Amino acid sequence: MSLITSLLRIYISAYKFIFFDSVCVFCNSFSMDSLCYTCLDTIRKRISLKVLPGYVFQKSLKEVHFSNLYFLFLYDELYDFIRLYKFENRIDLINHIVMLIMDVVGDDILRDIDIITFVPNHNKLNNFLITLFLANQFNIVFKEVVSINPKNLVLQHLIKDKKSRIENAKNKFVLKNGINLANVKKVVVFDDICTTGSSLNEVCRMIRTLNKNILINCMVLAKA
Ligand SMILES: [Zn+2]
Repeated sequence: MSLITSLLRIYISAYKFIFFDSVCVFCNSFSMDSLCYTCLDTIRKRISLKVLPGYVFQKSLKEVHFSNLYFLFLYDELYDFIRLYKFENRIDLINHIVMLIMDVVGDDILRDIDIITFVPNHNKLNNFLITLFLANQFNIVFKEVVSINPKNLVLQHLIKDKKSRIENAKNKFVLKNGINLANVKKVVVFDDICTTGSSLNEVCRMIRTLNKNILINCMVLAKA
């Protein structure tokens, strides 16, 4: 792992210890890390790698631009964990998330991958950091391909209606300048949570506008 990501991870642990507390987020027992060993072990036991083929999404998304969606657990199974990390800004949980992903995502998904990229969050570094850490762990090139469209700042997770989510995702992102994917064959796109799959699909569609032959798989923490 590169020095910068090692330092970032140490910083994230220290950030928790200094700005929050020295207890586990779940059980309140003493723990330097955000999760104690017991709670981490409980979560580990609930996680397994699952896969949905892209065509499952065809009915709602019309055109699907990825091959498979891999996910670690169902949203409801670990709601508390996701709520803390995503909506209460416990960014310190990111270190655990990366380790949990590494536990189950072996070489099969990340083998021969040319680049790993992510669905950007509004004003948050969550997906950026998780993907960066994974890229370093698995020695894959990390690339930011899209960013949030500054003209569309509607938060996707606040839209409850399925159709509106799919519609909103369509102008949610813009391609970054100067991205060249001409020689890229396989890409993994990471997002933390997949609800309709519309954000992921939109990022995949934009990747394909740069090179229509790219094989894309998506990987998410939780499927809602
Ligand atoms: Zn605990």
